[in-house]
Amino acid sequence: MTKGTETIVNPLQKSKLNKKGLCDYVVNIASGCLHGCSFCYVPSTPAIRTKQKEFAAKGVNDPQMEWGKYLFIRENIPEALSGELARRKTWQTTPSGKGVVLLCSGTDPYQNHQAATITRQTVEILLEHEKKIRVLTRSPLWVRDLDILANRNVTVGMSIPYLNDELSRKIEPHAPPPSKRYQALKEGKKAGCRLFVAMAPTPPAMTLEDFKVNLDKLMEIDPEVIFWEPINARGSNGKRMLAAGLDFAGSVMTKQSWAENFLHQWELIETAARSVGCLDKLHFWPDPELKGYLEQQTLDSWLYRPTIEQWS
Ligand code: SF4
Repeated sequence: MTKGTETIVNPLQKSKLNKKGLCDYVVNIASGCLHGCSFCYVPSTPAIRTKQKEFAAKGVNDPQMEWGKYLFIRENIPEALSGELARRKTWQTTPSGKGVVLLCSGTDPYQNHQAATITRQTVEILLEHEKKIRVLTRSPLWVRDLDILANRNVTVGMSIPYLNDELSRKIEPHAPPPSKRYQALKEGKKAGCRLFVAMAPTPPAMTLEDFKVNLDKLMEIDPEVIFWEPINARGSNGKRMLAAGLDFAGSVMTKQSWAENFLHQWELIETAARSVGCLDKLHFWPDPELKGYLEQQTLDSWLYRPTIEQWS
């Protein structure tokens, strides 16, 4: 395990995740993530791929395959962000990104106490500047910050692809189990937090019944929106999943099989949501590479679509 810190010049990055209805900006409070989920796409992104030399200098020789074994916290983020927001005169607000700042897209903001401390300070600064904030995590540690997160300018979401702890131990063994995440959402609801769920990424074996049961349970915490996408095994994450013994990855590693699985699961979750009565809350994250596999109009209609969330 390699742990350390790093400094970052610009803590507030414009983001293309408005494509998914998530945000217009991201703040990533670290590079690396100790949860090390085998399906994680982050190590295949330029944020990791293009920094081979920097990682090697810190003792990480293969940042893709060693994903989960290193964490460099950006401790200067609160100070740098404070300066940046004081200087900034413009703010991007797209219809689908809504000017929201996401913590985080490339790491988990509450993966441990050190990360949680930086995240809390970052949220406080963003709130002082009246920014809208989306927190996305797999760790229940965020409930210790309910005093600041129960705020109309904040929505907190947890990734809960399935409510099956046993399956989770195989796919994401170092992240807190889904039952703990669900419990955290319940506490958040009790405290008056705005909530969302990322039912992502769902593995190929999910059945219609699984989707129904999960959606039914998730509706008990009444999230404002439920994002969905299936497991994508076409980058280095496919290799990592196979290395982790997840044989199912082999069934979605070609473009054809990946697209077929995507569309099959899409149909299942849509049917399940209709039966549970929460179709209006589902927000799909179709990949532009599905082009040619479904009607272009359907694909286009989900890219850059605003969520149904209401921000004041
Ligand atoms: S918690 Fe998120 S960022 Fe961290 S490894 Fe898992 S999917 Fe990747």
